[in-house]
Amino acid sequence: MSGKAYNAFHMAQEQFDRVAELLGLDPPLRELLRWPMREYAFSLPVRMDDGSVRVFRGFRVQHNDARGPGKGGIRFHPLETIDTVRALAMWMTWKCAVVNLPLGGSKGGIVCDPHHLSQREQEALCRQWVRQIAREVGPWLDVPAPDVMTNAQHMLWMLDEFETLRGGRYPGFITGKPVGMGGSLGRTEATGYGVVFALREAFKELGIRSEDTTAAVQGFGNVAQYSVEMYQQLGGCVVAVSCWDQQEQKSYCYRRKEGIDLAFLRGITDRFGGVDRAKAIAAGYEALPGEAWIEQDVDVLIPAALEHSIDEENVGRISRRVRLIAEGANGPTTPAADHVLRERGMFVIPDFLANAGGVTCSYLEQVQSNMNFFWKKDEVLGRLDATMTSAFLDVLELSRRRKLPMRDAAYVTAVSRVAQACRDRGWV
Ligand code: NAD
Repeated sequence: MSGKAYNAFHMAQEQFDRVAELLGLDPPLRELLRWPMREYAFSLPVRMDDGSVRVFRGFRVQHNDARGPGKGGIRFHPLETIDTVRALAMWMTWKCAVVNLPLGGSKGGIVCDPHHLSQREQEALCRQWVRQIAREVGPWLDVPAPDVMTNAQHMLWMLDEFETLRGGRYPGFITGKPVGMGGSLGRTEATGYGVVFALREAFKELGIRSEDTTAAVQGFGNVAQYSVEMYQQLGGCVVAVSCWDQQEQKSYCYRRKEGIDLAFLRGITDRFGGVDRAKAIAAGYEALPGEAWIEQDVDVLIPAALEHSIDEENVGRISRRVRLIAEGANGPTTPAADHVLRERGMFVIPDFLANAGGVTCSYLEQVQSNMNFFWKKDEVLGRLDATMTSAFLDVLELSRRRKLPMRDAAYVTAVSRVAQACRDRGWV
């Protein structure tokens, strides 16, 4: 969502067309999978703190549920569009399939900027979203979760509204709930940790010692912070992170060549993943233009902010030293940039594989919620690691066997599973 002319859904369709061609899918199946099965767009009137009423736009898109109930987050973002939500829903279908979860793909969103909404206004917005869509979602139908600028508190308000409307307790309606209120231990860490579990396996494949590597990260929100945490646990050194500066309305890259201090930076970061620039500079960090994350002389790049961050304009700025890109964000690389990376022989762990730890843990939360029985953190993270590792190794094996880049191998794995489910159900 960089504001450049770019449409995430067209990009998702272009990626799909490429794999449909590779797989030789027949036309009805292509048509079915190129589009969401269902999509809802609705208005959300909210009474603001000053007494006025403001009408927001909300969306829920269900791309495909042949393999199981839909699953996907809800974003708050001022630039949200139906096409972004469509793309993200489609990517959720592939993501659930590549890690072999019995789930389909959905996504939701509200066009808003929570920086400018009070807690009460955010609560009202969450409750309105549920009121508009309650008949079309549910524990066995479509299960929402947090995403960009939404958190456990938003999920709990949404759950409370859903349960009020349905007249019962349905903790499996939504995931990413607070721990103690049906949330799973490990969910907060899951996406970022999962990115690095996959990265660890890629290091093994390339014969690289993680302790010898450095990385630059785009973003400093949930996914980025926990990627950094796990990567540092493996002995890697993160030299730069970038984030959006709400006051300045532009992004900054904070660099410290000897490695960032995660605990310190977290301590000066707001709940939207925005670092306090003055405090960072005072502590000796260089505040570079936001795009600088991509041109760092490091071994690993982890885009973990928003979609469309590596494109044909900036891909050439990636240092020759970079050997691996682990896509924490959804859709960070445009097809044109991906082409350049392929030519370069870059090892890319594609988004819907790299960041599948979030939905994997959401699935584990759903299972626990539906059973009303909860596992210890180690148990959850152990299952997460096992799922990520085995999905990564499956894709790697296909990539070697068919001499495909990792993105194509992940797509072939995921799309063939979904296509098979559609055929088995007799849909096409
Ligand atoms: P978040 O809101 O917690 O953090 C987003 C971060 O990106 C913030 O630090 C923000 O300042 C930064 N950012 C925004 N615009 C930027 C820009 N132009 N340049 C640099 N930084 C910028 O969001 P998150 O949950 O960490 O999600 C990040 C990405 O990962 C998104 O693409 C999301 O869809 C994807 N994802 C998230 C999860 C999850 O579990 N949270 C799971 C899978 C995928």
